[in-house]
Amino acid sequence: MKLLITGGAGFIGSAVVRYIIENTGNSVVNVDKLTYAGNLESLTSVAENERYSFEHGDICDRAFLEKVFDIHQPDAIMHLAAESHVDRSIDGPSEFIETNIVGTYTLLEVSRKYWNNMDASRREVFRFHHISTDEVYGDLDGTDALFTESTPYAPSSPYSASKASSDHLVRAWYRTYGLPVLITNCSNNYGPYHFPEKLIPLVILNAIEGNALPVYGDGSQIRDWLFVEDHARALYSVVTKGVVGETYNIGGHNEKTNLEVVTSICDLLTEMNVPLPAGLDAFRDLITFVPDRPGHDLRYAIDASKIEQQLGWTPQETFETGLRKTVQWYLENSNWWERVLDGSYSRQRLGNI
Ligand code: NAD
Repeated sequence: MKLLITGGAGFIGSAVVRYIIENTGNSVVNVDKLTYAGNLESLTSVAENERYSFEHGDICDRAFLEKVFDIHQPDAIMHLAAESHVDRSIDGPSEFIETNIVGTYTLLEVSRKYWNNMDASRREVFRFHHISTDEVYGDLDGTDALFTESTPYAPSSPYSASKASSDHLVRAWYRTYGLPVLITNCSNNYGPYHFPEKLIPLVILNAIEGNALPVYGDGSQIRDWLFVEDHARALYSVVTKGVVGETYNIGGHNEKTNLEVVTSICDLLTEMNVPLPAGLDAFRDLITFVPDRPGHDLRYAIDASKIEQQLGWTPQETFETGLRKTVQWYLENSNWWERVLDGSYSRQRLGNI
């Protein structure tokens, strides 16, 4: 099978590409615009593999996409390319509307035309897998409720609203045109190769360097954390075994407040004997409460029983084991994150088109 993966140079996309090349016999075409979030250095372990190829371009560019489909003749699409950072969407929503909505629409249209022209046997197996977020459901109150696949959409931020729009487009292309789609909505991911603007890598790197650890509001917002490699396995299960037209929620059963996440990282750094920056008694002393994000969602928590029962996927990492692996990875891979922080990370080695 040849999988066309959009956004394969991003955090989750690169984990999916590495997983497929390293654990299956399938081929991957990575289509990525290489925005600030795209980093080909997250793919060095697979870059020379003959089953991997890269095409540099924008999913909003229809002519580019048609050429990629024509050359590579993919059997399935895994669509991860997106603008993904909530704070950036509040500061400037336009790129979120462009990539997340117009880009998804363009990819759907190119996929539909391609699928319509496939021969019958290949049409049967073709899949369009749209990767989305639990943030489309809005937030939960203090009860025990969890997001299920039938929770009504109530997005709060420009980011989650743009992802909700793209989910609706994908469902409409299934209902109206019969395009064989799959949708997954996942909780917060963490793990290696995470861009250091996101909470967990930001806190690890700020702590090592003795910088403030910013916590929004009182830090009581709850997120359900999933180790990125567990997400990659879940996505591969869905694209290969999922039922067409279905939605699968993916989560880690790891609800933590943001403050718990930050203090856990501080405690792990102490336990791992990371030297305290000069003048500090404890990493926790770096915690700094900052004004809350506008519209900040209080709690996300996923009911992942459908994918567990129907596709046999379960997370392999608990928050404790996954966080330990993540902190260890950042301690051992300063060559990756230093080049991200100083802006010298690779955006070259472009593709053929
Ligand atoms: P990311 O920001 O790390 O990576 C996004 C990738 O998409 C980058 O490589 C970027 O260069 C590429 N890209 C952006 N605009 C593009 C365009 N117009 N054309 C082609 N490529 C483009 O994102 P991520 O955290 O890896 O998330 C991947 C997907 O998973 C997103 O759709 C996101 O909504 C979803 N998701 C993320 C999380 C999370 O916790 N990070 C959770 C659930 C779902």
